[in-house]
Amino acid sequence: MRAFILAVIAILVAVLIYFFTMDTDPQQAQPTIEPETTQVVPTIGLIDDARINNAASEPGNWLAHGRTYEELRFSPLTQINRENVAELGLAWYRDMGTNRAQEATPIVVDGIMFFTSAWSRVFAIKATTGEIVWTYDPKVPGEVGRRACCDVVNRGVAVYKGRVYVGSLDGRLIALDAATGSLVWEVNTIIDPERFYTITGAPRAAGGKVFIGNGGAEFGVRGYVTAYDAETGDQIWRFYTVPGDPSLPFEHPEMEMAAKTWKGGEWWEIGGGGTVWNSIVYDPDFNQVYLGVGNGSPWTRVIRSPGGGDNLFLSSIVALDADTGSMNWYYQTTPGDNWDYTAVQDMALAEMEVDGKMRKVLLQAPKNGFFYVIDRSDGELLRAHPFATVTWATHVDMETGRPVENPEMDYLEKEKWVLPGPLGAHNWQAMSVDVEAGLVYLPVQDNPFIYGMAEEWKKTGLYKRNPGSMNLGIAFGTLVQIFVNNISTQPTPKGYLKAFDPLTGEERWVVEIPHYWNGGVLGTAGGLVFQGDALGILSAYDKETGEVLWQFNTYTSMLAPPITFQIDGVQYVSILTGTGGGDLFSGAPLDPVPNPASLTYGNYGRMLVFKLGGTETLPAPTIVDDTIPEQVLADVSDEEVARGEVLFNTYCVLCHGLVVRSGGSIKDLRRMSDEVHASFAQIVLEGTLSANGMAAFDDSLTIEDVERIHHYVRARAHEDRELALGNQEGARFTWLQ
Ligand code: CA
Repeated sequence: MRAFILAVIAILVAVLIYFFTMDTDPQQAQPTIEPETTQVVPTIGLIDDARINNAASEPGNWLAHGRTYEELRFSPLTQINRENVAELGLAWYRDMGTNRAQEATPIVVDGIMFFTSAWSRVFAIKATTGEIVWTYDPKVPGEVGRRACCDVVNRGVAVYKGRVYVGSLDGRLIALDAATGSLVWEVNTIIDPERFYTITGAPRAAGGKVFIGNGGAEFGVRGYVTAYDAETGDQIWRFYTVPGDPSLPFEHPEMEMAAKTWKGGEWWEIGGGGTVWNSIVYDPDFNQVYLGVGNGSPWTRVIRSPGGGDNLFLSSIVALDADTGSMNWYYQTTPGDNWDYTAVQDMALAEMEVDGKMRKVLLQAPKNGFFYVIDRSDGELLRAHPFATVTWATHVDMETGRPVENPEMDYLEKEKWVLPGPLGAHNWQAMSVDVEAGLVYLPVQDNPFIYGMAEEWKKTGLYKRNPGSMNLGIAFGTLVQIFVNNISTQPTPKGYLKAFDPLTGEERWVVEIPHYWNGGVLGTAGGLVFQGDALGILSAYDKETGEVLWQFNTYTSMLAPPITFQIDGVQYVSILTGTGGGDLFSGAPLDPVPNPASLTYGNYGRMLVFKLGGTETLPAPTIVDDTIPEQVLADVSDEEVARGEVLFNTYCVLCHGLVVRSGGSIKDLRRMSDEVHASFAQIVLEGTLSANGMAAFDDSLTIEDVERIHHYVRARAHEDRELALGNQEGARFTWLQ
């Protein structure tokens, strides 16, 4: 017995030593957040429909996701303005204890700021000091991180009738008591637990209901949006965005209509896509909710729907009756989407004079590069001007309302560089609409991608869903080889901030930003446009000219949108820092795109809040050590390494970056310690680091596969080390330097 106990103790000690000697970067792990305090929120007034409808009377608050139901993200506050913005300084900051991407828009009401951080964690803090009032951790299992295409992000909460609503990465909609942060109810929104559904978007609340959709189209899911009773969590309606298995009854009449636009193929088996992962906007003028619908699953229409068809309601804006969920109208931005051109981007509601007539319009700049102005009463297309370089289509035919595709960009037979790529000409990073000036301040990118058909489909004409990974239908496993073969013709990725006139298509001013993957935008009546960028600079621009009036170096790349609010007569501007999201896949940029601040200094999740005369300072930045350790290379064939590359591109690239070059927020595998190399197979197959989001892949990979991936990672690390040392002999990736 004693021997047995000693043996157990020895095993426990060994396990403990194993865990403590592993490379567990605390910034990678899920942070331990401070325990909930007993402090109760100083009573915030009740937010209800009437209050949000009357938001103009309280410009100091930011009551809903885009400030008001209209989601214009343009603040009437003027204390911080063109004349004095040079005096803007940091009032306070708070470390979020994570280096994962921060994407949330806070809600600020009556002195309290409610927002989310990585892993769907919710914070209620005093907006003037950063002091924590309460926190809520939905305890998302770490292995769910694998199910998210674009990091363990969350874009914010809804605050409504004494509750705070948040969607968790693992698919729950959660209602918290706004005063204490205690759980009131939660529901599981996911219809199929086997599929990789997530939630990253902010719920919207109106008319006694909470609306939420899901992410997951890249992994092969079917999109839908559900309305829940805000009080009880009971389901009120559900609207599917794409048809399901044709052998089963249609869930609602719109599916019968949509099914006629899907022809041949087995899209329901792969998923269909059409996830509504970001934008759901409530319109009190018509008691409608607008769904911004995502891309197809798979991306390629010839696999998804080989008989052709528009594949409704992919890449569409769909207007539903908010009470019943029945459809009033739709407009499809990209019929038969073939490029991951989601229309999930933020939608703003305004009244504008169009062709001499006042119209209630909806504004959206989806990924596909055209800026849409749509009549909210009936879905009539009023304008569709390009706001970026667009090569997939020549224009939108205003007679038919349809884009005219460019046959030269068809990638069915041969790979093609296409603009925009899957990161979009505009992604979810917020825009700001200045109704008075008739302008939209818009974060834009010209970011190409080389599309080609999936290897398996080219060889066999067949395509089979991979339940454990992406289901894109394009050539992804051999992507690196395609890049190498076509690098000389790659258009350079570029980023811009534009003041764009949606009615004329005129660019009033354009600021070119060195990197393409930048943050959301805020405009103010003080004459300013705020944006944080990839190089870590938070800038205030003159909204009339684009001239830089103020800059602050945060030393961390930004994606999240700034907001502004006023408390006790003092105006503040806030922003979350920390990048990632969809660009995790691209990893470290190639010349001439400069490294983001997250690579140079590290990726620090922080809430920063500024005011005039603020004197707080951030900790001094430190430069990240980018040396690659010497590699122990196994004696394996080039073929084995090449097979490892295909596996890496199938299972690892989304997070760890193209050609194993991390973009900064996820571990760079070229810099693994000896201990991590020694436990590589356990990490990948057994999930020993699953708390960080690095789940087990034993459902998809064999030990031989893992060894091949490991050989490839080692080979890439060795090659980059040699290149850094000036030795280019035999290097396949000299273009990386
Ligand atoms: Ca997508």
